[in-house]
Amino acid sequence: MYTYEMLTEQIAELKREYGISVFYFGDSVMGRPLPCLVIPGNRKKLFVNASHHGLEFITSQVLMNFAAEVLARGSYVGATMYLAPMINPDGVNLAQNAINPATFDYKRAVYLNGGSTDFSSGWQSNIRGVDLNHNYPALWGTGALASFAAGYTCPGRTRYSGMYPFSEPESRAVRDLCFERDFDMAIALHSQGEVIYWNFNNLADERAKQIGQRLAAASGYALEEAEGIASTGGFKDWFIQEYRRPAYTVEVGRGKNPLPQEQLPQIQKNVFPLLYEAARLA
Ligand SMILES: [Zn+2]
Repeated sequence: MYTYEMLTEQIAELKREYGISVFYFGDSVMGRPLPCLVIPGNRKKLFVNASHHGLEFITSQVLMNFAAEVLARGSYVGATMYLAPMINPDGVNLAQNAINPATFDYKRAVYLNGGSTDFSSGWQSNIRGVDLNHNYPALWGTGALASFAAGYTCPGRTRYSGMYPFSEPESRAVRDLCFERDFDMAIALHSQGEVIYWNFNNLADERAKQIGQRLAAASGYALEEAEGIASTGGFKDWFIQEYRRPAYTVEVGRGKNPLPQEQLPQIQKNVFPLLYEAARLA
């Protein structure tokens, strides 16, 4: 279990212990501020985000524990890191039954969930049923049609692309953060599959592939290109298209979401070296 409130507590700890700098770059549908932690380094800027998807909250833990580890080391060499540990806090809380049932947003989510109050096995979307990682304008229409054809025709647990690109406050906040900070490289943490996706619509270049190979070597994860329906409308798709700079989706762990807590140490053994390598190569 890892809710937005637990994230907030862990951020407060890092502030107390290390004075880490944190800013908020937007709000979720329900008004939860979206935090971004900054770990100073060289002039390059690496952006790492986690938990676009509700059931993938283990990625928030991985990223926060990584921040704690970097800070505990004391000295750090590499790109300045911008770590946004929870893009979809409402969805994360909903998937763990941690949304106030008296709210309109909760009641709507129950309706969108087919009347069920059990969100623990399939809820990836934000609180109003939009899959944030299908909401970016990168072949958005193609993805929306593919989702439609596959039966995801309206807001719900997963794969609904939204009424239009950037229809959601969470994805807009990520866009505005990227515009403001002009990152050199980006990584989005998801679960599961132990795979790294590096390309979008053949727009990524040879350097992006080579960095992907280094990230694969550092983590032990496989580097892959083809993604089918998941390859449109995602954050890394949009970032590659917008900037023509390296961006990766890293699928941590193996099994069924939400991944069991027992996997956390192994995932961190794979992902921490990957993030350090990314910070060196950004
Ligand atoms: Zn995901």
